[in-house]
Amino acid sequence: MSLDPIKLRQDFPILSEKIYGKPLVYFDNAATTQTPTQVTDVMVEYYNKYNSNIHRGVHYLSNKSTEGAENARIKVQKFINAAHSHEVIFTAGTTESVNLVANSFGECYISEGDEVIVSEMEHHSNIVPWQMLCQRKKASLKVLPFNDNGELMIEKLDELITDRTKILAVNHISNSLGTINPIKEIIDFAHSKNVPVLIDAAQSIQHKKIDVQALDADFLAFSGHKLYGPTGVGVLYGKEKFLNEMPPWQGGGEMIQEVTFEKTTYNELPFKFEAGTPNYIDIIGLGAAIDYVEAIGLDAIDAYEQELLAYATEKFNAIPNLKIYGTAKNKTSVISFLVEGIHFYDMGMLLDQMGIAVRTGTHCTEPVMQHFGIEGTVRASFAFYNTKEEIDALLAGIEKVCKMFG
Ligand code: PLP
Repeated sequence: MSLDPIKLRQDFPILSEKIYGKPLVYFDNAATTQTPTQVTDVMVEYYNKYNSNIHRGVHYLSNKSTEGAENARIKVQKFINAAHSHEVIFTAGTTESVNLVANSFGECYISEGDEVIVSEMEHHSNIVPWQMLCQRKKASLKVLPFNDNGELMIEKLDELITDRTKILAVNHISNSLGTINPIKEIIDFAHSKNVPVLIDAAQSIQHKKIDVQALDADFLAFSGHKLYGPTGVGVLYGKEKFLNEMPPWQGGGEMIQEVTFEKTTYNELPFKFEAGTPNYIDIIGLGAAIDYVEAIGLDAIDAYEQELLAYATEKFNAIPNLKIYGTAKNKTSVISFLVEGIHFYDMGMLLDQMGIAVRTGTHCTEPVMQHFGIEGTVRASFAFYNTKEEIDALLAGIEKVCKMFG
């Protein structure tokens, strides 16, 4: 159960690029992962040989494209172990998936005085859609806090959940702290109070095997571009019982059964939630990305990334005046840090000059920064194609920057 990062790197042409004449060290994987040729080749093949709008076409090309996209749906279904393929809705990404639920579930189930719970460590895309919903419906948004290690205080759920709580939305893994949240425990507790749960899996789908049935998740959202797939495509998984009751969110072609000026009837699942021409080539690319990741094996990916995390954490901790934000026991391969007296932008820009790509700023989690009373961090996030030598290059880079400011 081990992987060979050097061999796998060859699947990613971008990793051989030089930045300002220096070898690229790509440590911005939590923002987007790189895409292997196994994925881009499939997409190019579809554009070059089979491209045609999907569904309802009677000709060969349309059938080929339709088959490709619907096969991808089945790949997603199996990947997350959904009970039915029609519980897999294709969206533009995690953000759109959350907005779909906030709007459609919100329309159906949330009224004045009701409550929605999110955690303090959510990405803005799992806060703002709920906030907008609560404003519209005169409902209230409640927040599950985390402690200074970056671990959710799930014991507070008992007092937070009331009989007005209609949904709880929480991430599986925090993008800015790396914390792996105990989502099974959270889901079980919420269900014991009859509260459905949406899991934001944007940062876990590429690291952890997810089984929506074993988790008993009600909704789960993720993006293709964080799973070594294309941009602009994502997934919303929803339990059939909710999706059937929820109204369509967007209207247009594909999501209808019959249209007259007096009345429109809606299509069955999953098409009821897929208005307009689907992003079918990217959907097909997402299917290829799942094949690629499964061929390596998520367990092997996770084990290797944990090795990188342990290696980097030990070395980071030895750098004077460097503080890691997010020290949970259960973490994924993300290190958010600051060096005293050095602004995160300066650190990021100087590392960039050395060919090292890290992310700087709030990482779309301003409440996390507010918790720690900081404006942002530098974030290095590792994927299976990264190496310990690259981590050494990052450490040398940080030390160089420290000397410049020393
Ligand atoms: N949720 C988390 C935890 C994320 O890290 C991100 C992106 O960084 C998102 C949601 C939003 O994903 P997207 O921009 O692909 O919709």
